[in-house]
Parts: sequence; structure tokens; C-alpha cells
Amino acid sequence: MTAALRREIALLILWLAILLVLGLFTGHTLVLLLSGLSVYTVWNIYNLNRLTRWLMNPSRHTPETWGFWDEVYYQLYHLYKRQRKARRKLTKILKRFKKTTQALPYATILLNSSDEIEWFNTAASYMFGFRTGLDVGQCIVNLIRQPEFISYLNKREFKKPLEFSYHSQKILLNIIPYAQGQFLVSARDITQRSQLDDMRRDFISNASHELRTPLTVMSGYIEMLRESETESTSMPLLKIQQQTQRMESIISELIELAKLETAAILENPESIELEKLMYEVFDEAKSFDQGRHVIDLSLDDISIKGNYDELRVAFSNLLTNAIRYTPEGKTIQLFSYSDEMGACIGVKDEGIGIAYEHLSRLTERFYRVDEGRSREVGGTGLGLAIVKQILERHGANLRIVSTPGEGSTFYCYFPI
Ligand code: ADP
Repeated sequence: MTAALRREIALLILWLAILLVLGLFTGHTLVLLLSGLSVYTVWNIYNLNRLTRWLMNPSRHTPETWGFWDEVYYQLYHLYKRQRKARRKLTKILKRFKKTTQALPYATILLNSSDEIEWFNTAASYMFGFRTGLDVGQCIVNLIRQPEFISYLNKREFKKPLEFSYHSQKILLNIIPYAQGQFLVSARDITQRSQLDDMRRDFISNASHELRTPLTVMSGYIEMLRESETESTSMPLLKIQQQTQRMESIISELIELAKLETAAILENPESIELEKLMYEVFDEAKSFDQGRHVIDLSLDDISIKGNYDELRVAFSNLLTNAIRYTPEGKTIQLFSYSDEMGACIGVKDEGIGIAYEHLSRLTERFYRVDEGRSREVGGTGLGLAIVKQILERHGANLRIVSTPGEGSTFYCYFPI
């Protein structure tokens, strides 16, 4: 109980005691007590009415009163002051936020749950031609009429960003859900980066094609020379032949990678019976392995959508790696299963394993944990980069679990 309320009760008791004493003297105790209580009630109703009026339009001037009501106004006035201060602070923050987002180099758009534009910054009006004042409230798909963008927005799956062409610009767009059904769209112009990427890809592809012809000629001559080799030329010729073969493998894998990169998304995927494909990969691996390992096969009856040849290359690369990096006599497993999340195809080995710090970089081109070992076993350093690219084209992802000295498992997840 507050001090003001205690004081108010004490005053009421005093008031009633005076009336009681007066009543005892005059002999009208009940009448006096009732009148006294009525006066008290009217006083409170009067003050309640004043309070309601003040609350409808609060100002720094509170009505003149006393007692408990004075305390009520005092507390309300301070609450009102605190709220005004907080509102002013919030407005300031909001203004600063708007200024900052206006200055952002990225196009930023706020959408409501019906995909109508609530706000956008200057960069968005440059990128998409929005008109300040006119386009707020418009449905975004009426303004950005681009099929890829419309289908991306309608799918409501915003985990991966969207890359699309819009009026000779290449745009990378992210949509971030926030609050209830609202979205923050952030887009940036990646035309320059995309052109550089194309140039790099074209260069690698052209250079590889150009190198292929002289290498084929060299291989032919080396083979010819080996037929008439002498004791002194045998060793150098063998070394030259091995290195030429390595270069040929690197070049064909570079060409393969460039081809895969040209189209980021798979066109016309077919339905693939995994069992058949896996048996083919298994047979190929068995002949490569020549009985050095125990290779097990454990398959579920699954079919997935994709490109047969590409998937064969991916699983074959994983199995070949398992053979290369596993000591003789150990077991390698090629397995597949499906659950409510999708299908999983994997390769498990009891090989040398990979230390944790290397795992995130394994799919980079030419990244090797141990360069000498990779060369020794005939690796090009591109196998896992190709696997990653193929899986990406299939909307699948790669997970690697490994313990040095115990072995590794490569899981390829294909979502439903
Ligand atoms: P490489 O042709 O050198 O094998 P990859 O891209 O296929 O190139 O693999 C990259 C590196 O990852 C390899 O050099 C090797 O160090 C490591 N690696 C790949 N698979 C395995 C595996 N099953 N066990 C251990 N290390 C592996």
C-alpha cells in the first residue's frame, strides 16, 4: 500500500469519526454518515471525470487537486513524460535507420504479406525503376515482371539467393522473412562479377581445349619412342609418359568442370533407378581396385531425378577416392537409403581419414590434404570439386564426416 493511499484512508476514517461524533450530539448519526459518504463519492466521481478528460488529451498541465488524486496525477504525468521521451527516441532511431538504408548500395525493399511494397530505398528505385511515392502499395510482381523472380517469390523458399537477369543487369537477390508475413528484399548488381566469372570460365575452357591437341600429339610420339626404348631412355620416357597422362587427366577434368559450371541448373532431369547406376559404379570401381580392398554394396530401392552420366561421375569419383586413400585389405562401403528428408547416397571407408580443419576446403579446386600422396595415387585435385558441382546442379549437398586414422564417410543428400 502506498503512503498516499494510507493517508487517504486515514482522512476518510477521520471524516467518518467527526460525522459520528456530530451524529451522537445531534441524534442524526445515520443521516450524517450517509451525507458524508455521498459527499466523498461525489468528490471522487468529479475527480474521475477530470482524469478521463485529461487522459483523452494529456498535457504537462495536470488539474489542480489534492490528496490521493494529486498523487495519481503526479504518477500519470511522469509516465506520460517517460513515454514522450521514448517516442522521441524511437522516432530518431527510425529516421536514422531510414537514412542509413537509403544510403545502402544494395536495393532494399520492404514487402507486406500480400507482396505489396511498403518501403524501398534509392538504390531500389535505380535498379528496378520504382517511382518514389507512386509505387508504394503496388504488388511487386507487377513491377518486376521477370518469370524467375515471380516463381521464386511464389515458392516462398528463400534459403538460397536468386540470381537472375533484369534489363541487361545480373542481379543477386535475397529475401529475408521478418515479423508476421513480411519480407525484406535485398538485391545487388553482380553484372561485373558475373562477366568476370564468364571470362574466367571461358579462359579455362579454351586453354584446356588448346592444350589438349599438342598433348595428344606428344602422347602419340612418346608411345612410339617407348616401343624402341633402350635401357638408358626407358626410365625418362616412362616418367614423361606418366606426367603426360596426368596432364591429360587434369585437362579433361578442367573441361568437365567448365562444362558443369556453364549451366548452374540441370535441364530436363530424368528419373534414375539408383540400383542400376550404383551397380555400374561398383563394377567400374572393382576393376580399378583389382581386389586390393573389400568393397561392399548396400542399396535401397530408390529413384531420383537427375542426369545419369553426371551422377555416375560423382559417385565414381567418391569411390575412386576411397580406394586411393584406404590401405589395402580394408573395407569400403557404397550405400544408399531414403528417409522422410529424401535420398542419401554415400561412400564409407576405413582409410587414412581427414583432419577437421581440411574438411571445409576439400571441394576447392586443387586443394589437397597431402599433395605428395595425391600425386602418388594419381589424383588431379579436381575430383571433389566436380562432385560438388554435380550435386549443386541436382539441388543436393555433400557432407563429409571423417576421423584421421579411422576413415571417412561422404554423404550425398538429395532432398525430396
Ligand atoms: P585428388 O585428385 O587429389 O584426390 P580430390 O578433389 O578428389 O582430389 O580430393 C581432394 C583431397 O581430399 C585429396 O587430395 C585427399 O587429400 C582428400 N580426400 C578425398 N577423398 C578422401 C578419402 N576418402 N580419404 C581421405 N582423404 C580424401
